[in-house]
Amino acid sequence: MHCHEIITQKKHSTTPWLPGVAMLAMLGLAGCALDTSEEMDTEGFHPGEGNAEAAGSGRMTVDTPNGPQEISYEIVNGRKIAEGDIDLGAADEPSKGTDFQTKASTRIGYLWNDGLVPYHVSLSHPARTAVLQAISEMDALTDLTFIEVPIFIRDMILFVESTDPGVSSSAVGRQGGIQYVSIWPTHGKSVVLHELGHAVGLWHEQTRWDRDENVNINWGCMPWTRWHNFEMKDVVTGFTSGPYDFKSIMHYGSFAFSYNLFCPTITKKDGSTFSGSSSLSAEDIRVLNIWY
Ligand SMILES: [Zn+2]
Repeated sequence: MHCHEIITQKKHSTTPWLPGVAMLAMLGLAGCALDTSEEMDTEGFHPGEGNAEAAGSGRMTVDTPNGPQEISYEIVNGRKIAEGDIDLGAADEPSKGTDFQTKASTRIGYLWNDGLVPYHVSLSHPARTAVLQAISEMDALTDLTFIEVPIFIRDMILFVESTDPGVSSSAVGRQGGIQYVSIWPTHGKSVVLHELGHAVGLWHEQTRWDRDENVNINWGCMPWTRWHNFEMKDVVTGFTSGPYDFKSIMHYGSFAFSYNLFCPTITKKDGSTFSGSSSLSAEDIRVLNIWY
């Protein structure tokens, strides 16, 4: 399309790409117009819309503050992606932790020191306005403090453009060093808020341990290759740990990963459907303020 493609080509490359992104981000300051014309964000988060074919799959154990947690992933654009948008790291970079296949591990759910989250988003990022809106909301409603900084310090979030059509993604919790939150150009505030929720330590509501007592998963409404996205977690970490929360920004809507709009994958116990949230819920805020 335009300048964002130059930058995003680096996102999933298998070689270290940060210097390239840094350089292009700076070029972007001068060369790319700020595009705020597209905002498709009225119904919350829509996972499973990506067109990229999974290049493989696997299971790994991630280290969490409360102990190890097994999680399934697909390899998309060279990244290990769980549950549609949780980035577990590069497929070919056995870095930290225990992967059944690569012996790699990833830290999950680590908090940000003193609730301070440095971040950078290029002036040329098409979703910059949405990013700033989401940050403003989380900063205002929680005890977290976000500070925009240049991209050369450690332990920070760098917002980059997604190369997986229709998909934004983030790691869970502070990873150590510069970590990337990948935002699709036309995604709006609610999607960014969801990814930001991951980045500060939140998991998905629909995979928490008591999910089956609160919603029905309609396995027939999605291909079996998507079933792993609904695998429940067995440790109490990174969830909104109060009552099951349909209003959580971390809850997918009824049609996540579904074949079509006539076949909801997630319904309430009475069979009704619901949309993803577009704002932090009271419970989201409560849990973040306990942590931070
Ligand atoms: Zn998510």
